[in-house]
Amino acid sequence: MEQSYLIKPMLDGSYPVIDYGKGVYLYDKNGKKYLDAASGAVTANIGHGEKEIIKAMEEQAQKVSFVYRSQFTSEAAEKLAEKIAKLLPGDLNWSFFVNSGSEATETAMKMAIQYWQEKGITTKHKILSRWVSYHGITLGALSMSGHPGRRARFVPLLEEFPVIHPPYCYRCPYHLEAPACQYLCARELETAINRIGADNVAAFIVEPVIGAAGGAISPPKDYLKTIKKICDDHDILLIADEVMTGAGRTGAMLASELWGVIPDIVALGKGLGAGYAPIAAAIATDKVIEPILAGSKVVMSGHTLSANPQSCAAALAVLEYLEKNQIMKTVEGKGEFLRKELEKLKSQFWFIGDVRGIGLLLGIEFVKDQTSRRPFPRNAQVTQRMVELAKEKGLIVYPAGAGIDGVNGDSIIISPPLTITEVEMNELIYLLKEAFSVFSKEIN
Ligand code: PLP
Repeated sequence: MEQSYLIKPMLDGSYPVIDYGKGVYLYDKNGKKYLDAASGAVTANIGHGEKEIIKAMEEQAQKVSFVYRSQFTSEAAEKLAEKIAKLLPGDLNWSFFVNSGSEATETAMKMAIQYWQEKGITTKHKILSRWVSYHGITLGALSMSGHPGRRARFVPLLEEFPVIHPPYCYRCPYHLEAPACQYLCARELETAINRIGADNVAAFIVEPVIGAAGGAISPPKDYLKTIKKICDDHDILLIADEVMTGAGRTGAMLASELWGVIPDIVALGKGLGAGYAPIAAAIATDKVIEPILAGSKVVMSGHTLSANPQSCAAALAVLEYLEKNQIMKTVEGKGEFLRKELEKLKSQFWFIGDVRGIGLLLGIEFVKDQTSRRPFPRNAQVTQRMVELAKEKGLIVYPAGAGIDGVNGDSIIISPPLTITEVEMNELIYLLKEAFSVFSKEIN
């Protein structure tokens, strides 16, 4: 292929053409092998080329690939919704299927507003969120996203939803430590609600572990519970954006479960279809859906390809695969193994400031100085360089970074398929160390 007419994220970027994938590996047309330590974009949760999923998709294609959601449902969609209701905690029983994480968070936002409307409360239409967050690229989802870099070009079109600091303990704005801090960053939510007026607020949206915007920042122990209580006390719904954290990534179906919280609405994406098909979902509790069922009976969202049978069959097969092979049970141990190895790298390379995350969603933040935690200057493009160096070595890592103020800060996410073996984890660490060694020489 000499000339590509494909629009790529970087117009000057020439990307390797991937030929096929198997397990944690991808192979390009030139025969180069990559260990996919990012699961693409924290998506390929069960690895590449899994035959059971392909078979399920083939079987569905033989039956029917498309039915339109407001004319018909399909066995695949019904079974998937049933499986999700069974696997998710509490009464998160109602799935609305869409095609991307952005559509899922945007649908969640609309469901929350509609919930209040159907109860006769029309003033509650604001959605609050945090800085250092990413909820998607469509305008509603971007409005909720506290990611200045991604907002910048579209600011005139966006609502100002982000209002509070994230639980970024490595760079705590209060210079305190949990639990002595009494979760001041969570309590900012209460201040914001009081300022804006609970009567105007429909919901608060949160990534249980901050992904793309900050590099796997997981909250201190009681943070999420504190947030949920503030929401409950003020009659505000809690939306958990589990697009990155859900479907087993942290060792549970939802990361929220790890902190004993059941949100009112959940957004799932990425790992739900594990990259085999585009699928995502906004999932609501009985409480949220009841006034809608009793009222208009229509969730005011939806896309032509919502609940596409082909995608639903893929996602159902992925969830069955996770269940059957008890994969979630292995995540904690694998995460601990990798984390220990990353900590060792931290003691070897002065530019690693922080190793963090939970389960198989781990982050590494790079700093110019470990003691002062000073970031590298932006023009050093450290995140980008790390990703490039790793790729040269045959390792795919996910760029995050920019956690500090949306401009400064460098971090990468290590999030291999949940099916990764110990041998493969050792190879991952070996390749990462190789990339860091090259960076170390370059920066000196
Ligand atoms: N929410 C979170 C937490 C994400 O990480 C992402 C994507 O990175 C999205 C939403 C948007 O998902 P998508 O890229 O599938 O639209």
